[in-house]
Formats: sequence, C-alpha cells, structure tokens
Amino acid sequence: MSSAYYVAQQVNKARQAQAVRNAQHAQAQRQTQSRFDRSRLPNPVEYYAAQGIALKGQGQWRNALCPFHEDSKPSLRVRIENGAFCCMACGAKGGDVLAFHIKRHGLSFKAAAIALGAWKGGSR
Ligand SMILES: [Zn+2]
Repeated sequence: MSSAYYVAQQVNKARQAQAVRNAQHAQAQRQTQSRFDRSRLPNPVEYYAAQGIALKGQGQWRNALCPFHEDSKPSLRVRIENGAFCCMACGAKGGDVLAFHIKRHGLSFKAAAIALGAWKGGSR
C-alpha cells in the first residue's frame, strides 16, 4: 500500500465520519422541529390569566404589569392573537406564549414546549 493511497483512505474516512455527524445533526433538528406542535400552545388570553398576568384594555393589544422588571404602571403590551409581548419600560419581548414562558421561567425551548403541552410524544 503506497502512503498516498493510505492518506487518501484516511481523508475518505474523515469525510464519511463528518457526513454521519451532519446527518445525525440534521435528524436531531428535524425531530426537534417535528415534535414541537405550535397548534397546541395554549390560548394567549387563558395562558396569561393562568400566569397571573391581568390583561387590561380592549382590542388586539392589551396592557399588563410587566413581570420582568419592577413595574408600577402597566408597561407590558400583549397581543392576544398570538401572545406576543413587548415591554415599553425594560424592553423584554417575544413573539408568542412560548417565548414568554421560556423567559419568565428560565426554561429551554423544549422544556417550555413540554410545560405548555406543545411537545408531542412524552418528554424524551
Ligand atoms: Zn418590563
């Protein structure tokens, strides 16, 4: 066996190992995406009420006391359609109730999805 052939073989092996790692990573990502079910997220109005966040006002955007800073007047804006929130005082914001849950309870994406019942098939 020539040394050039040996090197070529080693390079091939390394490439194959990299390809396997890439495939495993892609599979893990697909599983994460497929197991999160956005349609199972709780209704935003019910969710915020259950979190002890009283929504005040009418229309798409409601006002609430912000739980992310010492709030004396309602600084938090909550969009009831999708649960998006944005604080005018401290800048806390997110696009849905999942983002709120992650931020408020210091959870990972998956842990928050499980807690909100939006994760399919157990908690593995
Ligand atoms: Zn705030």
